[in-house]
Amino acid sequence: MSIKFTSDIMEIIRKQQIETTLNKAKKYAWEYISNIDERHVYPHESDRANLSIFDETLNKEPQSPDEILEMLNTYGSPATVAQTGGRYFGFVCGAIIPSAIPSKWLADAWDQNPAMFVLSPIASKIESVVEKWIIDLLKLPDKSSVGYVSGSSTASFVGICTGRNYLLSRKGFNPIENGLADMPKIKVVLGADAHSTIYKALSMAGLGSENVIKVPVDDQGRMIASEMPELDDLTLVIAQAGHVSSGAFDPFKEICEKAQASNAWIHIDGAFGLWARADTRFDELTQGIELADSWSVDGHKTLNAPYDNGIAICKHTQPLIDSMQMTGSYIITSDNRDGMMYTPEMSRRARAIDLWSTLKGLGQKGVADMIYEMHSKAAYFAMKLSENGVEILNDICFNQIIAKYQTDQKTIALIEALQKSGVMWLGGAKWKGQEIIRISVCSFRTTYDDIDLCINEFIKQINILEKHI
Ligand SMILES: *Cc1c(COP(=O)(O)O)cnc(C)c1O
Repeated sequence: MSIKFTSDIMEIIRKQQIETTLNKAKKYAWEYISNIDERHVYPHESDRANLSIFDETLNKEPQSPDEILEMLNTYGSPATVAQTGGRYFGFVCGAIIPSAIPSKWLADAWDQNPAMFVLSPIASKIESVVEKWIIDLLKLPDKSSVGYVSGSSTASFVGICTGRNYLLSRKGFNPIENGLADMPKIKVVLGADAHSTIYKALSMAGLGSENVIKVPVDDQGRMIASEMPELDDLTLVIAQAGHVSSGAFDPFKEICEKAQASNAWIHIDGAFGLWARADTRFDELTQGIELADSWSVDGHKTLNAPYDNGIAICKHTQPLIDSMQMTGSYIITSDNRDGMMYTPEMSRRARAIDLWSTLKGLGQKGVADMIYEMHSKAAYFAMKLSENGVEILNDICFNQIIAKYQTDQKTIALIEALQKSGVMWLGGAKWKGQEIIRISVCSFRTTYDDIDLCINEFIKQINILEKHI
């Protein structure tokens, strides 16, 4: 072994000055942000084909930050989907509130790890502050705790694991140390239209994705509470705030009251819908949601925070910590917040900073108005579609629209034509055995003019379709 080995390469990298490149990144980012609505919403085929430039073996020698950025900007930027603009309606995505971007960049340079207070006082502080803001905005029980995870998939996993451990521990078992092999069975009860990530979380939690009782749903995909099976104190009930296609909310009050009467654990998947709690105009939809034990919600969907912002909320702090905790002789915990106590991960980026800057940038009124605007725009979009011969299949209770155009075949053809147009992007799905168009209004950038533009494109593509079929 050579003593004091110094690599020439590392000498070069240590000396790299990135100020000019950072300024370029800023310039390219600003060009991107300010031209977002001029883009084809889905990238042109030629721009997608150009991505083959990335198929290279890793360079032997270091490449300069400037060259790397240039490549990303030249070939990457044109192959992005304009999700941060006003005419992307696919899946349930969401744009980025302006205040989040500069703060995120600064925090990227900090590269803090919020696992423990001792690793980053600022990240710990912001996690504590945002925890309180979220609990207040969503009107959840005061003492609830928040874990900052990657998305709702993980947030539901956290809620389900904590519930599982809580139910079993209460019966005198120790699933945390002993595993599930010799434990009594947990009865899992959910709506037949639960999101697929719930099944995934159940399988990761060792409960089995199909070892569940599916409660029938109504014409909107809502769980029918009166058809719930008998519950007991080893039951995990999973309800939903925001059906991924119809946007419908389960009847929480009925569900939670039944579950509470049997001492069951209730988890609510509110990936995009839980934000309805931030606006009193949705009180009827969310009534009783506060009675649950754990909730999952995304910052990166309807809140329009940057990606990688899932939020796990649990009413029972100690069971959450018991389920997520790890120990080691080098771990230094403190009286301040140690973020890893509430998440499956130890190290993570300080993603709560994104939530902090997004929430501050909107304020309480902004959050409420943004959510209500999304609803209002979805209602307008649906009204215009139905005036133009497109059938609306759901009640527009939140931000989601389910539509169809005459037949399955025409619906599929219309989706494809609209996607190709570049004017908008929306996806398809199946609903009650039919092919449907799914429209999710969840970008704060969407304007009524954007919707009018989309309606004109619908009319144009329908005309073309009718001439060709
Ligand atoms: C998007 C979504 C999820 C999954 O959330 P991720 O952030 O993508 O992990 C879960 N449930 C519902 C209802 C969703 O819309």
